[in-house]
Amino acid sequence: MVDAPESASVADVLAAVKKRARWVSQHVAAAKARLAHVLPREYVSGESLHYLGRRYRLKVIVAAGATAEARMRGAFIAVSVPEHGDAATIRGALDAWYRQRARELFAVRLAAVAAPLRWVKQLPPTRLQFMTVQWGSCSPSGRITLNPLLVKTPRECIDYVLLHELCHLLHHNHSPKFYQALNRHMPNWQAVKEKLDNMAEEVFRT
Ligand SMILES: [Zn+2]
Repeated sequence: MVDAPESASVADVLAAVKKRARWVSQHVAAAKARLAHVLPREYVSGESLHYLGRRYRLKVIVAAGATAEARMRGAFIAVSVPEHGDAATIRGALDAWYRQRARELFAVRLAAVAAPLRWVKQLPPTRLQFMTVQWGSCSPSGRITLNPLLVKTPRECIDYVLLHELCHLLHHNHSPKFYQALNRHMPNWQAVKEKLDNMAEEVFRT
């Protein structure tokens, strides 16, 4: 003999199932949001892009005969392409744009960051190179290599990387003396580095 009306238990089960389904869908949504940072870019309109630590939206403009080219337009980074669906062309145009922005900005910031450093008698030679996990490096001969993707991060992060590499002109290692120099010229460098590290996943996502 069943005392409880059968419909009640079915309703209970349904409610439990719904609750479970809602929990699952919330978790799937959260997982998707997390994955959005590690999944490859699709290079379609609406995707977010960064420049100097600010978020912009990609706008793909298809125009027959257009030369693949990226330019900033307000809150958008607009990329003109001659035809639909060519992610490689869009990526190429964006890389060229980032590289150009990096070339101009890094030159200005390098001069500014180096100005108070007594051991920098003249600005070191620099080159740009897209790298997948590194912001910059300093060769034993004193040439500084910088990742153009660094231009996606805030200016203080760029300054930190430049200062770090400039300190390597004085100490070609990560010795206590190296950190002394870094501390003296950017006392809050650890907080800036943390900000940079937090952006790495997004910046290096291609
Ligand atoms: Zn170093």
